[in-house]
Amino acid sequence: MNPRRPTRQVAIGDDRTGIIRIGGGLPDASGAPTEPAPVVVQTMTAGYTHDVDRCVAEINKLAAAGADVVRVAVPEKKDTESLPEIINQTTVPIVADVHFHFKRALEAVEAGVHKIRLNPGNISDRDQVNAVIDACKERKLPIRIGVNEGSIIERKDKQRRKEELGKYFAGHKQGHLMALMIAKLEEYLDIFHERDFHDIVISAKSMDAAFTIDVYTEIAERFDYPLHLGVTHAGTKETGCIRSVVALGSLLSRGVGDTIRISYASDPVYEVEDGLELLWSLGLRERKGIDLIACPTCGRIQVDLFTLVQDVRKKLATDIHLPMKVAVMGCVVNGPGEAEGADVAVFAGDRRGIIYVQGEKVANIPEAEILERLHAECVEFQNRVLRGEAKLGEKKVEIVPPDPIGELGSGFEKIAAGNVEKVAELTVRGR
Ligand code: SF4
Repeated sequence: MNPRRPTRQVAIGDDRTGIIRIGGGLPDASGAPTEPAPVVVQTMTAGYTHDVDRCVAEINKLAAAGADVVRVAVPEKKDTESLPEIINQTTVPIVADVHFHFKRALEAVEAGVHKIRLNPGNISDRDQVNAVIDACKERKLPIRIGVNEGSIIERKDKQRRKEELGKYFAGHKQGHLMALMIAKLEEYLDIFHERDFHDIVISAKSMDAAFTIDVYTEIAERFDYPLHLGVTHAGTKETGCIRSVVALGSLLSRGVGDTIRISYASDPVYEVEDGLELLWSLGLRERKGIDLIACPTCGRIQVDLFTLVQDVRKKLATDIHLPMKVAVMGCVVNGPGEAEGADVAVFAGDRRGIIYVQGEKVANIPEAEILERLHAECVEFQNRVLRGEAKLGEKKVEIVPPDPIGELGSGFEKIAAGNVEKVAELTVRGR
């Protein structure tokens, strides 16, 4: 992991939502140093903004899932007219996503929105851009300049532009496109700089993961503004996840990127969940809730582990708020080693499971009871941590099962002897 790339810093939000900072590391306008802020997770609502009740419900659901900032589309006046009511009923900073009509941006600023997103590909008239810059400057609102691949291509004279710009990036298979995006960005930034406006976040999204990595790398070298990372039109969660994580993970691991939005053609809650998981996995944000370890299963499996893991994930998501490591392992052959360091672990066997809490064996129970017992042990362990009686990540006893395979009824020796006995109930700590 490389250190975070130093950038200017922007701040969004107000007293009610709290202030979310994006980027940092370079001095602010007064010359005071700034610290890089944790990478911010954003998403966008999928419903109509003018449908106020649904929009509010969706924003609150996304905030509960962990979104730091939520963007809404404002294609029509009725959308910007809904913003004051929406902002009043939500607690995260709201970004207005503006395309084609600069007046929507002015209306959104007036309505109290916390940030504006503009697309140089469809709002390029200098006077119109100036009007938005002036409105945002007056209210100290940042603007994201988003040069998405899909909307930036000038279809007129496309061949000529390719020839003109391609030479700058000769050798790159999409060099002309990268040159066009960067040229457009430079052109647009000139308008902002002429008005001494620097509360800027830049994005340059593409649907191609490799191109996304290349274009953001170029932009990171040329500009010192914070970067909003994303792969646009990434597809469904199943395929979009790979595209987004490979591009964003690669950039973030090199210190590039200050806020992210994972885009799926699915419920945006998944975008938030996966964005957070990506940042947690890279150690860029402090994990909230369980860190679930699960084995991939193999021919040794003797319980329905796929169902169990999903059930554990869902059940613990609501009740466990500490970054507790929980392992769900299909057997005791590799389980103990692979789950080393887990605070709570279950090793399954012949339709049974043995549960450990920080190395101490606390139960040996039938498969049907694993979920409830594991949940109870996690809740109790969380309470002990909160009372100061235990510490996360502190392994008191090594998990060295004396003969847990035998206890679970599927020990190699028993199997080899053709003598698989019924296992006696071995509840270590009664409940
Ligand atoms: S823990 Fe056991 S069941 Fe799971 S993959 Fe490893 S050996 Fe197979």
